[in-house]
Order: sequence, then structure tokens, then C-alpha cells
Amino acid sequence: MTHIVPHLINGEFTTGAASQLLDVTNPATQEVLAKVPFATHDEVEQAVASAHAAYLTWREVPVPERARVMMRYQHLLKQHHDELAEILAKETGKTFADAKGDIWRGIEVVEQAANIPALMMGETVENVARAVDTHSWIQPLGVCVGITPFNFPAMIPLWMFPMAIACGNAFVLKPSEQDPMTPMRLAELLLEAGAPRDLLQVVHGGREQVDQLLTHPTVRAVSFVGSVPVGQHVYRTATDNMKRAQCFAGAKNHSVIMPDANAQQVVNQMVGASVGAAGQRCMAISVAVFVGSARDMIPALRDELAKVKPGPWEKEESAYGPLISEAAYKRVLSLIASGKEEGAECLLDGSDCTVDGYPNGHWVGPTLFTKVTPSMRIYQEEIFGPVLCCVEVDTLDEAIALVNANQYGNGTSIFTASGAAARKYQHEVEVGQVGINIPIPVPLPFFSFTGWKGSFFGDLHAYGKQGVRFYTETKTVTSRWPEDDVVQEANMTISLK
Ligand code: NAD
Repeated sequence: MTHIVPHLINGEFTTGAASQLLDVTNPATQEVLAKVPFATHDEVEQAVASAHAAYLTWREVPVPERARVMMRYQHLLKQHHDELAEILAKETGKTFADAKGDIWRGIEVVEQAANIPALMMGETVENVARAVDTHSWIQPLGVCVGITPFNFPAMIPLWMFPMAIACGNAFVLKPSEQDPMTPMRLAELLLEAGAPRDLLQVVHGGREQVDQLLTHPTVRAVSFVGSVPVGQHVYRTATDNMKRAQCFAGAKNHSVIMPDANAQQVVNQMVGASVGAAGQRCMAISVAVFVGSARDMIPALRDELAKVKPGPWEKEESAYGPLISEAAYKRVLSLIASGKEEGAECLLDGSDCTVDGYPNGHWVGPTLFTKVTPSMRIYQEEIFGPVLCCVEVDTLDEAIALVNANQYGNGTSIFTASGAAARKYQHEVEVGQVGINIPIPVPLPFFSFTGWKGSFFGDLHAYGKQGVRFYTETKTVTSRWPEDDVVQEANMTISLK
């Protein structure tokens, strides 16, 4: 019998009353691993109501106790690391090494959440007026919601609910319907770590369930990660309904390569950064901007990319896995075709990729385009596949202007031996996360994940101090305590002595 992925509602794992069930497949084989039910209207209502009841108790739990739940959770996630990675690899197609990285990056956020007492500290000023003091408290919001994408089914849910819960909130997670098994296992382990059973609710579904959450009067804040059109819809609907929202969306990340950069280092780093995880990373490098004679590195880059072979998760030699779905596969192939039609030069074409023994996988080989111009679809659209577009410019100023004219601003990097060039780039580029001789600059969780422009809608970013601010309110208290009888009596006693 096919496994049905349950919801977690009111502390119970339930397959619910859904009439709509979607297949969860292994993208390398199309084997159906499980079916995921879409929550009914009543089930979503129950999840929110139960989360709210849990919040009313949880917000009174002392901060160190909340931190201890996160410490136990971190320990359990580490203990179950490989088991989680296997579930994740099967339903996403990621290689085992990549799946382990997905989990590890999430564990790092849980470690940060375990540090919540220090992060919940407010501010104080004594004597703001004569005998008047002001201090601020950081208090939780209530019920927070998370809507997550397919490409990091461990890391991205872990960006959200551990921080929200450590801050004293309850959380309703709506994971991607394409790989819901990993988030469910994360939820089971949170219960095992001793979290109250109704603190985290997980409901499955698509637009209908998301819209119900976005318009629900009890929900206070919405965290979303996914594509641009859905991110815009989520941001507009959530804010129209007076909710706090942080929406992380698509990207087109450029890497600028200066002529003085170490060629070997550039080639090695660009291969992994562009086609690793089949390019299905919001921080993947999808555009390489070669400045002046740096263009001479392109043939070596082509040769290295040609050696990279995709394959199934369980084979150690697989450099990356298949695309997640038939729809993603068709979209990437159509974009590769458009690049050729629009006049880009395809130095390496992965459209006809096959993997022995896996005829049904959504395989796309490494693909490299040169002579790409900003008007082409392959430059304008997020491809989310193993495709690298090369653009050539004459100066660093031109490179900066190109990157700044792009609608996205998630991540970027520069390769150079010049501190001055690196300094100029990091200062002038309008992108929220910058790497210097580091291709994919994802900040560790004591910083925040700070995408800009079309890659992020909202104000406060994920995890770190900004994550805490997002999931909390600041209450500022100003107090005066006029001297009362007790103090006057004490003074009298002292003077009599
Ligand atoms: P997606 O937008 O299709 O789905 C994201 C979530 O939204 C899923 O839970 C899905 O069920 C839900 N959803 C889908 N359609 C919806 C609709 N019409 N209304 C309401 N909810 C809807 O994204 P995806 O394909 O799962 O993920 C890939 C995208 O995520 C890429 O664009 C990638 O760049 C982006 N992403 C961004 C970041 C970042 O930090 N900026 C990180 C990871 C992924």
C-alpha cells in the first residue's frame, strides 16, 4: 500500500479527509514514494486554532526552557542526520552529499535558536527623565506561518519554525507538496525533543490552503520562500490582510571574474556553483561576467563542465541529481532552446542527457552559453537548471552596471586578486549577499539571509537577529516609582543609626 504523508494537526498525525492526493515521486525513477493529501478547509482551521491555543501556554514557558527544547532538537537532528538525508535524497533527487548539506545548514539554524535567551534581550536606559527609566521587552507574536519550496525541504523549514518557536510563537508549516516527507520527519523529531505536541502544525496543500492561511485573522506573520510570482502573491495577500510578511523569491546570481583572478580557482568554483544541485539553488551562479581578458578562462571552464555527470542519489560518482519534475524539465529545455534561437552560442548542450539504468529521470547535463545578452530569455528568466550564461564586458564598472540593472539581488560574487576591485564591487553592487573569491556566499545563521530587490519582498530577513525581530514585537516600558513609605521608612532607620 502506498504511504500517505500525514498532516500534523492538534498534536496528531492524520491523513485527514482530503479528496485530493498528489504523488510524491523519486525524480530519478518516477517511482511513487508516497501520496500527499491536500488539507480541507476545516483541517486548516483546526491547525490554526490548535496552534493559537498552544501559543497561549508556550509564551509563558521560560526562555531557557524553550532554548533547551532546541538543544535537544539539535541533538536529535544530528543523531538522525543520515536517515533524514536519505529521505531527502529520495524525494528530491539530490546527491547524498548534497542532501546532508541541506540538513546540516538547517541544524545550524537550530543551534542559533538554542541561543535564544541572548537574542531576546531588550534595551534599557536609566533616568530618561528625573527618576524615570525606560526598558524594552521582546515578546512573541502568536501564530506564525511558513510556506516553503521544494529545493531545500530541510534547510528552509528549519530557517523558520525553530526561530519562531524559540521566540515563544506557535507555527503552522505548509511545506512543498513535491517533497513533504522530509519536513514531516523534522516535525516528528521536534515532538521527540519535547516540544508541546500542538506547537508546530503541518498542513499540506497548494494555493487554496496557502490563501486560507494568508487571510486567516489569527495568523500574525508569514514567512515564504519560493518563486517570484507566488512570492508576490503571498506578499500582497498577507500584507493586504495586515500581516507581517517576509517573502524570499527567485534569483539570477552573477559572478564577476576579473582578469587577475586565479584561473584554476575560478574554473573549479564556477562548476560547483553553477550546476551543483542541478542548478536548483536560489544562490546558484547562473551568470558569469568575464571582464576583459578573463574571457580566456571560458575554454577551460567548458572542459571542466563537460566532465560533470549527473546521476542518482545513491551513486557516489553522481555530481548532481535530476530536475525535480516533468514541468521543471520541460521549462529548462525550452529555455535552452530559446537561448540557441536568440543567438547565444551553446558551447555545451545538456538537453539530450541520459543516465544508464535511469531512463525516466529528468536529466539535464551541464550547459554553457556564451555571447549572452541582457535581452535574451536565458538572461532575463531564472532557469533553475544546470545552465551557466557567460557575458563579456570590458571594465569592472560595466560589470557593476550590468549586475545592478538586473531585477534580482539575491547573491553575487567577484573573483579577483585586487583588494581595491573587491572593495569597489562590494560597496557599489546592489545585491544583498556578496562573496569575494567565494562563489555562493550564504551567510551562517548568526547573520541573516539578506536577499534584495526582486529576490525579497519585506523588511526583516530570515534567521539571525533579523529573524528574531521578525517573529517578535518590542514592548517599551517607561516607569517612575515615586518614593513610597517603605523607602522613606528605610531612610529614617538608616539616619537614626
Ligand atoms: P513555488 O513558488 O512553486 O512554491 C513555493 C511554495 O508555494 C510551495 O509550498 C507551493 O505549494 C506554494 N505555492 C505554489 N503555487 C502557489 C500559489 N499559486 N499560491 C500560493 N502558494 C503557492 O516554488 P518552488 O518551485 O517550490 O521553489 C523554487 C523557487 O524558490 C525558485 O524560484 C527559487 O529561486 C526560489 N527559492 C528562493 C530562495 C531564496 O532564499 N530567495 C530559496 C530557495 C528557493
